[in-house]
Amino acid sequence: MTTTTDLVSYEDALASYDPVMGLEVHVELGTKTKMFCGCSTALGADPNTQTCPVCLGLPGALPVMNKTGVESAIRIGLALNCEIAEWCRFARKNYFYPDMPKNFQTSQYDEPIAFNGYLDVQLEDGETFRVEIERAHMEEDTGKSTHVGGATGRIHGAQHSLLDYNRAGIPLIEIVTKPIVGAGERAPEVAKAYVRELREVIRALGVSEARMEMGQMRCDVNLSLMPKGADKFGTRSETKNVNSLRSVERAVRFEVMRHAAVLNDGGKVVQETRHFHEDTGSTTSGRTKEEAEDYRYFPEPDLVPVAPSREWVEEIRAALPELPLVRRTRLLAEWGISATDMQAIVNAGALDPIVATIDVGADAASARKWWMGELARSANESGKALDELAITPAQVARVTELVAKGDLNDKLARQVIEGVLAGEGTPDEVVDKRGLKVVSDEGALTAAVDEAIAGNPGVADKIRGGKVAAAGALVGAVMKATRGQADAARVKQLILEKLGVGEG
Ligand SMILES: [Zn+2]
Repeated sequence: MTTTTDLVSYEDALASYDPVMGLEVHVELGTKTKMFCGCSTALGADPNTQTCPVCLGLPGALPVMNKTGVESAIRIGLALNCEIAEWCRFARKNYFYPDMPKNFQTSQYDEPIAFNGYLDVQLEDGETFRVEIERAHMEEDTGKSTHVGGATGRIHGAQHSLLDYNRAGIPLIEIVTKPIVGAGERAPEVAKAYVRELREVIRALGVSEARMEMGQMRCDVNLSLMPKGADKFGTRSETKNVNSLRSVERAVRFEVMRHAAVLNDGGKVVQETRHFHEDTGSTTSGRTKEEAEDYRYFPEPDLVPVAPSREWVEEIRAALPELPLVRRTRLLAEWGISATDMQAIVNAGALDPIVATIDVGADAASARKWWMGELARSANESGKALDELAITPAQVARVTELVAKGDLNDKLARQVIEGVLAGEGTPDEVVDKRGLKVVSDEGALTAAVDEAIAGNPGVADKIRGGKVAAAGALVGAVMKATRGQADAARVKQLILEKLGVGEG
């Protein structure tokens, strides 16, 4: 009997099997109101204060479609190169669960709003992999259960449960891929790259912030293995609600190793849903997977069909923003950087801040340098995202301007940034308050140079004798005397002039 903890090494699994993946991503739309009623979707309200007869499923209440929700779905469909249905309906997905007050979820079944598309995703080495999209359909979120009294927060061991229906009825788009075959050993990387690219697309469209850590975007990972050379898919498992890019990658990897162990043992993979555990990177069995017929889908009788006119669809298409892959490819060429550099920028969440900094006047190289250097380090240390730092792109641009003018050197610029981040004011205010200006007064510099030479006669003699490299020690002395506020290159020049040595 194979237990869930038996694993085959990833390499051995890949030597015998080809992974087949299916990724289902739920995105919570950022509409102001719910999908079928006028209740607010704002976060942080007291439980059950954003509800009404419609989203509570009270008898006789009638839903009305949210136009922005439909438009967002079409935007997503078009960005994923899908066809947009000329006519489609909502359906009732029937199941009983306490956090779903209607006892059915309003969803779409065999008539999705968007279908048959693809998304090109970029792997770490810059190679492109095409993921085909089966469909993107509209549905609504459920409420939220909180289990109280147990040690784990799970229902087992809890004394009672609390229900909050504020989330019930918030619009969701579910995006389903076709089976992803041919990724081979790169399957985990492809899965992660797909979810990341999809997140970038969703954000670029402005339809959701798609913050995975806040549950605004969550991924179900379907995985099966087939013996190498076979053409029939194996039985799949579905790991539910994976909540970070890293977890998507780990969940695929773990399931590959687990399935291989089951199959190598002559066992059968059970079709079931599974839970992913962040702490161990493993999955455990959930419930046996329902088939579509268990949900007794039927067309929603209370909503009119959705029949977006072709004119409207074309209007939406014409208004799509530049999509992330196109934008990255363009910027990569403009900046003359490698695919790996660009990947690092994207992974750091630095692309938008860098572009915004260039937009207000910084040159591209300086903008990249500060966001990927000092600011990335600071964000990392404080556990914040780059765009949460207390500095604006305009302020970063001002720092690069002061450096370009020679008013600041890199060392001083770092102190200015530190001051801005600490809330000491704008870059210019920090420069004033901390007295951080490059000493450009030649008289003061010359005096400091004379002093350094007088204080280090041995070093000065070496330099006079031709050992130009020894000048570093004198430069250091001058920088120390000026508290780092001198232009080091100019200092070196002055020292060599004084000692009658030409450079190089
Ligand atoms: Zn409502």
